[in-house]
Amino acid sequence: MNVFAKIIAGEIPADKVFENERILVIKDIAPQAPVHLLFIPKEDVKDLQCLENLSLVSEMVEIAKSLAESMNLKKGYRFVTNVGSDGGQEVPHLHFHLLAGRPLGSIS
Ligand code: 5GP
Repeated sequence: MNVFAKIIAGEIPADKVFENERILVIKDIAPQAPVHLLFIPKEDVKDLQCLENLSLVSEMVEIAKSLAESMNLKKGYRFVTNVGSDGGQEVPHLHFHLLAGRPLGSIS
């Protein structure tokens, strides 16, 4: 079981920001920016390439927009997902990162 599956199952703790039946949003344990959230579907999906239920993506985008509004991220943010080894994915369970609170620069 990967670390996000264990968090979803309640086997290891996480700092939860949002949760519904389908999606969990937590704070990243090693934040790369003052705001670093992880959007994790509860469905067992390895990455975006494997995802069939695309409505999960639109729901995560809706939640990201709502949290950005409530957190007053007026200067902007980045909302990204890493896919596979070249994409820099470390945890093999689909997740999106929301990063904000400092200039993030261009994507390398
Ligand atoms: P990836 O590189 O797979 O796109 O991102 C995985 C992210 O998960 C990393 O930013 C890493 O810091 C975060 N992470 C790894 N293990 C844990 C954990 O146990 N708890 C939390 N909250 N985040 C984790």
